[in-house]
Amino acid sequence: NEELMINSEKLYIAGQLAAGIAHEIRNPLTSLKGFLQLITTGRADNRNYYDIMKSELVRIEAIVSELLMLSKPQVYDLAEQDIRKMLSETVALLETEAILHNIEMVLQMDQQPLWVMGVENQIKQVFINVIKNAIEVMAHGGRITILADLEEGRTVTVSIHDEGPGMEKEQLSKIGQPFYTTKEKGTGLGMMVTYKIVDNHHGQINAYSQTGEGTTFYIRFPSSRAQPVLPAIS
Ligand code: ADP
Ligand code: MG
Repeated sequence: NEELMINSEKLYIAGQLAAGIAHEIRNPLTSLKGFLQLITTGRADNRNYYDIMKSELVRIEAIVSELLMLSKPQVYDLAEQDIRKMLSETVALLETEAILHNIEMVLQMDQQPLWVMGVENQIKQVFINVIKNAIEVMAHGGRITILADLEEGRTVTVSIHDEGPGMEKEQLSKIGQPFYTTKEKGTGLGMMVTYKIVDNHHGQINAYSQTGEGTTFYIRFPSSRAQPVLPAIS
């Protein structure tokens, strides 16, 4: 019956994810084991291996931290937040990294507070993940434009536009799949976590991309001070 089917589908997805995680963590573990063996048999100068071993550990740590984001309890820290404050703080946090990449971040926001119900750290994580991706794809620098306003009196909309290489349709459809990455040091988990958090907040996320032009992400949350929709007067 239907309920059973839904359950087996969930189990299938959980199985896929578990297989992906196991695979992604086993690779750096295998490499760590190999280096440890080389060191204990005294076959090489240990020092050369420490850096590689450390970067493998950092990789495992990054994967585990991102996966933990998915399981964080959230109901406890639920509170009304001004999206503008969270965006300003996120931009401030990423400013140094942007400057290092020769990137200018432009932030334009509504004069009025943009209230949403949510978990501060999670919503910030969404902005961090999307803006970080924008920074990482703009190899030659440029501008990231971030806009925030209230749509139709009830939807808080944030758009994040970059001048990166953009994506083909096929690439675009793969975003958010666990472990999908085109980066040498990527985890491919950032956008999966992002989608999950946005969904938990009853929000929506859409991406528009044009190769050679750049990418824009639209992130929408229901306003917690939504104006009542008045019946149309005819
Ligand atoms: P990671 O950043 O570790 O690769 P993400 O889940 O954050 O993992 O992103 C997955 C992939 O989506 C990236 O590797 C990249 O190919 C693509 N991507 C995400 N954001 C952008 C962007 N703004 N422009 C181009 N490609 C992007
Ligand atoms: Mg990322």
